Amino acid sequence: MSEPSIFTRILEGEIPGEIIAETENAFVIRDIAPKAPVHLLVIPKSSEYRNVVELAAGDPSLLAEIVGLANSVAAEHAGGDFRLVFNTGPKAGQTVFHVHAHVLGGDLDEASLG
Ligand code: 5GP
Repeated sequence: MSEPSIFTRILEGEIPGEIIAETENAFVIRDIAPKAPVHLLVIPKSSEYRNVVELAAGDPSLLAEIVGLANSVAAEHAGGDFRLVFNTGPKAGQTVFHVHAHVLGGDLDEASLG
């Protein structure tokens, strides 16, 4: 069996990380290295899916739950508008292979694109 992901360890309280929102199947933390004024991570509690392509194929309703939770936390913490990013694969910058959505918000400008 593989090692638990960093996000599973946060969920289980093994390493620090404040859970700022939670649903039955997903939770939200602040990114430790924010790339925007507001940078949150929306994460399924299950580490079964490594990336958004696997999640969409395996459990589309959980993907919809992730998007809905992203919308809720963006409304609460980022004034509503937000960018939703799923890095998919190491060459695209994915470092944690437990699917997660980056919610980027708070006065994003053109300079932060890309
Ligand atoms: P990825 O690069 O896989 O798309 O995103 C992983 C994200 O997890 C990165 O933005 C990184 O800053 C964040 N991260 C890595 N370790 C931790 C941690 O221990 N706590 C928190 N809150 N975020 C983390």
